[in-house]
Amino acid sequence: MSCPLCNSCKDSHTHLFFACAYLRRLWERLKEVAKLDDVSYVWGEVISGIVNKSASNRIWSIIQRLVFGAVVYFIWQERNFRVVQLSSRVVKGLFYVIFDTVRLRLMGLKIIKVSPNVREAALIWNFPLNLSSEGSKLI
Ligand SMILES: [Zn+2]
Repeated sequence: MSCPLCNSCKDSHTHLFFACAYLRRLWERLKEVAKLDDVSYVWGEVISGIVNKSASNRIWSIIQRLVFGAVVYFIWQERNFRVVQLSSRVVKGLFYVIFDTVRLRLMGLKIIKVSPNVREAALIWNFPLNLSSEGSKLI
């Protein structure tokens, strides 16, 4: 069975994450906005790259984990939609579905301190920084 996303290669887990030309373009865009430039396109290396990043409550760590969870979920969803011929999305469309999903999760976070990293993340991910009178903020 050929890959339902690019229709040119054999369908496999390794191909899906991220040897497939379609998904490679998606992962490339997500890596940029999640500051995952140092993470590879090879599934085993992606996993070890994410695992080796220390999980913390820092904003970029949260974003990276949210992006990783969302990309795995939505790639499988896209693949399955195409297999049963429900629908298909272009890379840009799938990117924005993932982006909006992560963005909504970020808008639900309670951030105590506005650091330069938080400001940069708010700018890239387009979520508001609502400062309270004490200087802490809720988003
Ligand atoms: Zn493919």
